[in-house]
Amino acid sequence: MTATNWRTLLKGKHQLSLRLFLLLNAVSAGFSIVVPSANTQHLTVPIIMVLVISLSCLLWQFVNKKKLININAVSLIIGLLWAWHIYIKVSAMPIRDLNFLIIALLAILFIGSISFINNIQAFIASCLPVTAMILWLDQGDNWPRVLYSIVLPGIGITIQNIIQQRNDNFTRRLMDKLLEEKETLNDLSMLDPLTGLYNRRGFQNRLETVLALGSGTHFVLLLDIDHFKAYNDNYGHSMGDQALTHVSAAIRDAVRSRDIVTRYGGEEFMVLLTDVDTEQALQTAERIRQRVYDLKIPHLFNEDVATHVTTSIGLAVLEQQNIEEALRQADSALYRAKRQGRNSIFVSESLLPS
Ligand code: GH3
Ligand code: MG
Ligand code: MG
Repeated sequence: MTATNWRTLLKGKHQLSLRLFLLLNAVSAGFSIVVPSANTQHLTVPIIMVLVISLSCLLWQFVNKKKLININAVSLIIGLLWAWHIYIKVSAMPIRDLNFLIIALLAILFIGSISFINNIQAFIASCLPVTAMILWLDQGDNWPRVLYSIVLPGIGITIQNIIQQRNDNFTRRLMDKLLEEKETLNDLSMLDPLTGLYNRRGFQNRLETVLALGSGTHFVLLLDIDHFKAYNDNYGHSMGDQALTHVSAAIRDAVRSRDIVTRYGGEEFMVLLTDVDTEQALQTAERIRQRVYDLKIPHLFNEDVATHVTTSIGLAVLEQQNIEEALRQADSALYRAKRQGRNSIFVSESLLPS
C-alpha cells in the first residue's frame, strides 16, 4: 500500500515534468516556425510533428488526468523529430552553419535538462538523437565543443539525480516511520491506558470482526466493582487505580484469548464470551467472580459483602447481533445483583427458565 502510494507520487511528479517538456517543445517548435534561425525552409514535417505531438499530448493529459503517458517514449520521439528537423535544415544550407548547430543543441539540452532534472532516462532519450545527429553533421570538426555541451548538463543531471535519490529515500523512510507511528497510535487509541484492556472503540472494532465471522452464540457479561467509591474515598485514587489494574488482570486471566475484555466505564468491565453455551457462560462468570474475590485486595468498607474487593456480574445472551439490547439486559441483571447483596452473578430474564 505504502510502496504503491509512493510510486504513484513519483509518477505524478514525472508526469508534471513531462508537461513542462511538452510545453517547452511546443513553444520552441512554434518559435522555430515563426522566427527560423537559419535562412532556410521554415516549415519542415518534423517541426510540425513536434508541435502537433506536444500540443496533443498536453491536451490529452489535460482531459485524461488519470492516464499516464510513457515519458521515455514521448521524449525519444520528440528527440528524433528534432534530429530530423536539424538534418533537413542543415542539408538545405549552402554552407554548414556551426552556430546553428550549437544553438540547436543548446536549445534541446536546455529543454531536456530543465524538464527532466529528476529523470535521467527521459533526459537521455530526448537529447541523444539530436546530439548524435549534430556530431554526425559536424563530421567531428567541433567535437570537443559539442561533447562539452552535452557532458556538462549530463554530469549535472547525474549528480542531481543522486542527490534526489537520497532525498527520496529519506522522505520514503520518513513516510514509512510516520505510517508505523500512525498504526501504533491507532492501536493505542483502542486500548485503555490504565488496564491495557480494550476501550469501547477497541471493543466495537473487535466486535465487528467477531460478528462478521458469525458462528455460535455469544454472551455479554457486565461487571461492576462493589462499593468502589468507598474504596477510593478511603484508600485514595492511586490505590484505586492499582486495584483496577489487578481486577482487570484477573478478569483477563479467567477468560479465553478469543473473548473480548473491555473497560466499559470507570470500574465497570464488559466481557464478550464468544461461541459458548449458557452453561459455559455461567461457569466463566463464576470463575471471574471467584478470581477477583481470591485477589483479596483489602477493602474494609465493603463489609456488608466481604472485607476485600468483590464484583457483581450481569449476564445476557447476544441475540440477532443486537449488542445494545444484550447490554441493556446485562445491565438490568447487574442491577439486580447489586440489589440482592453484590458479589454475585445474575442472568437476564430471557435466560431464566420460564
Ligand atoms: P456499587 O457497589 O453500587 O457499584 O457502588 P460503587 O461505589 O462502586 O458505585 P459508583 O458508581 O457510585 O462509584 C464508582 C466509583 O468508581 C466512582 C469513582 O470514584 C471510582 N472510579 C471510577 N473510575 C475510576 C478510576 O479510573 N480510578 C479510580 N481510582 N477510581 C475510579
Ligand atoms: Mg459503577
Ligand atoms: Mg461499583
